[in-house]
Amino acid sequence: MTVARVIVDVPSRDTDRTFDYLIPDRLTGWVEIGSRVAVPFGPRKLQGIVTGFAADAEVEYAKLKPIEDLLDAIPPLSPELVELGVWISKRWLCPLTIALQAMLPAALKGRSEKYVFAASGAQWSEEETAQSGGLLLALKKGKPLKLTSLLQQYPEQGQLLKRWLRQGKLEERQRVEDQLSVKTVLTVFPSDSPTLWQASEELPARAHKQKEVLRYLAENNEPVTVIKLAEEVATTTSTIRALEDRGWISIQAITEDRDPYAGREFPASSPMTLTPAQASVLAPIQKALDDNIHETFLLHGVTGSGKTEVYLQAIQRCLEMGREAIVLVPEIALTPQMVERFKSRFGARVAVLHSRLSQGERYDEWRKIREGRAQVAVGARSAIFAPFASIGLIVIDEEHETSYKQEESPKYHARDVAVERARLHGAVVVLGSATPALETYEAAVHRRHDTDNVQMKYIELPERVANRPLPGVEIVDMREELRLGNRAMFSRSLADAIRDRLAKNEQIVLLLNRRGYATFVMCRSCGYTAACPHCEISLTHHKGSQNLRCHYCGYSESEPKTCPSCESPHIRFFGTGTQKVEESLAETFPGIRVIRMDVDTTTEKGSHEKWLTEFRERRADLLLGTQMVAKGLDFPFVTLVGVLAADSALRLPDFRASERTFQLLTQVAGRAGRHELPGEVIIQTYDPEHESITSVQGHDYKGFVERALTLRRQLGYPPYSRLLSVTFSHESVPMLLSTGERFATGMREKSAALGVRRDFDHGGGTALEVLGPVSSPIARLKDRYRFQCMVKYRGDVDASLVTAQVLEEMGDAVKRNGVQISVDVDPQMML
Ligand code: ADP
Ligand code: ZN
Ligand code: ZN
Repeated sequence: MTVARVIVDVPSRDTDRTFDYLIPDRLTGWVEIGSRVAVPFGPRKLQGIVTGFAADAEVEYAKLKPIEDLLDAIPPLSPELVELGVWISKRWLCPLTIALQAMLPAALKGRSEKYVFAASGAQWSEEETAQSGGLLLALKKGKPLKLTSLLQQYPEQGQLLKRWLRQGKLEERQRVEDQLSVKTVLTVFPSDSPTLWQASEELPARAHKQKEVLRYLAENNEPVTVIKLAEEVATTTSTIRALEDRGWISIQAITEDRDPYAGREFPASSPMTLTPAQASVLAPIQKALDDNIHETFLLHGVTGSGKTEVYLQAIQRCLEMGREAIVLVPEIALTPQMVERFKSRFGARVAVLHSRLSQGERYDEWRKIREGRAQVAVGARSAIFAPFASIGLIVIDEEHETSYKQEESPKYHARDVAVERARLHGAVVVLGSATPALETYEAAVHRRHDTDNVQMKYIELPERVANRPLPGVEIVDMREELRLGNRAMFSRSLADAIRDRLAKNEQIVLLLNRRGYATFVMCRSCGYTAACPHCEISLTHHKGSQNLRCHYCGYSESEPKTCPSCESPHIRFFGTGTQKVEESLAETFPGIRVIRMDVDTTTEKGSHEKWLTEFRERRADLLLGTQMVAKGLDFPFVTLVGVLAADSALRLPDFRASERTFQLLTQVAGRAGRHELPGEVIIQTYDPEHESITSVQGHDYKGFVERALTLRRQLGYPPYSRLLSVTFSHESVPMLLSTGERFATGMREKSAALGVRRDFDHGGGTALEVLGPVSSPIARLKDRYRFQCMVKYRGDVDASLVTAQVLEEMGDAVKRNGVQISVDVDPQMML
């Protein structure tokens, strides 16, 4: 095995195959499947991942170049993860390198860096030396210097650098580098105490600082960082270094983990005695773990039913069996509170991965997993790629959450990846939710009746622990309020309830449902609305900076005083932001202490955490926010949950709109009355008869879902079909139309050739239908028009494969014309 097959990190269709490289002698035995390597690629140096080896007969040795460097001693990916990557690239139609890169922590997404150094024998004139302002001096030291840092440091000398490179006085060299390395600290390792005492005697009296250091080390005979030692003895690093030269101490660079939870105490928790209901759902999970079989469970448990305790005890069994566990929670729910529940039970065996950590912290948590120092990974979507070797259990909490689908390439869904990865490991999957996605519920409950081949087992926790009741839900018709003359933001009912809680010193969570609900600008005289000139999108009003902004391309303009179209002064900023609600709260309830949590107040690192702690410690009465406040919070004194604009997302052109609304409302309602005090929920809406709202009132998940499924079946939507959307974008509409037509025709011809029916509506069986091309819901973005085709299919046809083939055949013409294509398999967002 002297030739490695390498996927290079260039995300395009042309390079989406392996390239062969010789393994040089010095790297023999080091290069494995999953190794990261630096390879020459044309004139460039690139990072690549080894995905296999070539047999002798397959290669022309003379043509091959050698691998230049191995980037890690231990491969960051395992053969299993490489295999998973191949599966992802086929399932979601993306180049393999994109799937593989998604599995690496950002810190390892290597970049190729240019270094420059003085060519041997190069001469510079005095004038040049003077011009260079220190640059030459730096270069003449002989060490290659990073081009980007030089340009930063000597911004004036860019031209000079370029000229010297062209003249050959400077040479450049490329290296592939990590964006970040491990953090090391210099640590002093002292000799034993008697030696140190003696040494301090031997030193001359004038070396009193060195003596002091030695005495300190003799007394505290343990490793200490150079920084701490210098502080303790009030001396300098060079004094300490001098002792190393004499052999009394040694100084080594020690890698140190950046622990994001350093200094935080996690009180130990032990397993609770399970309720009979909890015990009955845990039993089949544990049995599957004991039997070492791959099985998937849907754990449907109402809010507050004790699902987390079930996860914890399942994980415990998994660890006892010597295997590892992954727990996915939605990014937004990855609050300290959630993390604490896992850290308290499993301590240092838990690694946490989420996007609010710095790149370095994430990398260190990731290394803990790969090096076997952690056995439980808790994290958001991408934690599904935690580099464990022997996974026993994967838990996905709130499995219906949209954040498990990545919206950029690779557009994977963590739920599907989890099931595939568990299959490769013979592991158990537990999908938990109070409001399972319709697709999941259908698979677990209905398909069970259709076939003997049970894909997913349904287990249920229908009640809250300790007989705590689910909160009562009141629906307020805001049209009625208006008719009765209440123009305020809060209905009389909600206002009364808020006053009541303030008097009792209990707490309130207030959700402003803002999905699809921008603060846009409209003229009341002529109906003009401000839209982005580059995108077909309304501009959003930002009060702070007094301007209008496009959230897609960043375009902004100052806020108009009169209508640009009819010059009427009656131009208004519509829609309600959290800021406005906050103002209104202060006016209506003088003295109320409000914490506002939205994108604006949570940008700073740790701010999330800070707000929640404040609320937990009851330093505020009301927690106001967007979707952020709906998930995973568990506060004992919250007895009232209010929802403003409950229906705001219902009119979005998305067949999942009512499912999403129902899920969100159920989740937020579940924040109330989770402990001793009973809870109450008040939902304000202009659409009080809508099923997604009335079903929340009755806590009627099953009724809602059965009715929704019937509708989906009639319309042929998922889960009774699958969708694949292809979006084309270009500056010219005719070009788009012809490209879209070619794609649609290609799809129809290919599937007809495979014997697949086109009439989707009649009967069951395999069918594939292509809708479009039509203008996308967002018809123009950044000056490019957008058209889409929707492929709807069911049964025994691999639509991803057919799509890949059709696009491949169209490939060259499309590229020549500059049409961009993006494919989304099982899209979750219809916008
Ligand atoms: P879920 O995750 O289903 O929303 P939680 O796991 O947060 O529910 O549980 C709700 C509350 O019930 C928590 O305060 C938890 O500590 C408590 N709880 C869970 N299981 C038990 C049990 N077996 N005995 C007593 N309290 C429990
Ligand atoms: Zn106007
Ligand atoms: Zn725009």
